[in-house]
Amino acid sequence: MAVRIDGKAVSAAVRARLKAETEEFTRETGVVPGLAVVIVGSDPASQVYVRNKKKACEELGFYSEGYDLPEETTEEELLSLVKRLNEDGRIHGILVQLPLPAHIDENRVIRAIRPDKDVDAFHAENVGHIMTGDYRFLPCTPAGVMELLHAAGVPVEGRECVVVGRSNIVGKPMAMLLLHENGTVTLCHSRTKNLPEVCRRADILVAAVGRAKFITADMVKPGAAVIDVGINRTADKKLCGDVDYDAVEPVAGYITPVPGGVGPMTITMLMKNTLSAARAFAAETGKHASCGGASGKKD
Ligand code: NDP
Repeated sequence: MAVRIDGKAVSAAVRARLKAETEEFTRETGVVPGLAVVIVGSDPASQVYVRNKKKACEELGFYSEGYDLPEETTEEELLSLVKRLNEDGRIHGILVQLPLPAHIDENRVIRAIRPDKDVDAFHAENVGHIMTGDYRFLPCTPAGVMELLHAAGVPVEGRECVVVGRSNIVGKPMAMLLLHENGTVTLCHSRTKNLPEVCRRADILVAAVGRAKFITADMVKPGAAVIDVGINRTADKKLCGDVDYDAVEPVAGYITPVPGGVGPMTITMLMKNTLSAARAFAAETGKHASCGGASGKKD
């Protein structure tokens, strides 16, 4: 039987710490961390994420602004909002919810966000910092996975880590964070040969594929830590991950459920990044706060 890594509990503990840190920071500096969340169009899943982000801001005592823009919003209109938020001193983090409607160039919008307000860490400048290990923010989902591994006491150093999925948002930065902690990392994708065999080598297996129950028991080494990033809907509309939980759980040493695993960590890491951005702002503007948050790779 695997140890079930409870993302809700870990997330609640991190949020409690962030709340206390935010109170102290605001008392010392007078700066209230501010997050702007922009959504274009009416994708129901995105609407839920945005609502949850607003709730998290309220819970931690952040200032928040939400922009719910219609589907027909032009790229220029969105860019002009981003420009205004870039210049707004109350806003330390800007998140533009992806995906954007097809007529808007996502890359152009991401490039328009000031890198020091890019709390999603998608801007090329921040991606570069992640590569070198000298970062201001970590991308939220992979950072959440690392927190879960740490909380469960799963060591990374020297261990075989296999990440399935190579997206810019999850797979690639996930591989990099495991590497920074001295894991031996293999990054798999749809052209990987003998995927089950590669996965079976893993002491830590991270699934970020976007296919329900894709990771089956025969792909898992006994005792491995299996982290499920996937969020999928089954035919009967139930939420499920990329891992066939019921089959894998008896084989794995640790496992994250869906829901209640990686998902709750993502927003919490966004809050952590926003507080880091506010600290950097306070330090730059001489409000007597130390610039926290970033840390490099482990030696
Ligand atoms: P993408 O669709 O961008 O990437 C999927 C990756 O899976 C690609 O690299 C693709 O390979 C790979 N893949 C697809 N089919 C196979 C296959 N048969 N064998 C091996 N690899 C395969 O997805 P994301 O990274 O954005 O998201 C992945 C999942 O994580 C989704 O379910 C998403 O909803 C979820 N997610 C969850 C978050 C959370 O907070 N928990 C946050 C973000 C995402 P290739 O590159 O070759 O096409």
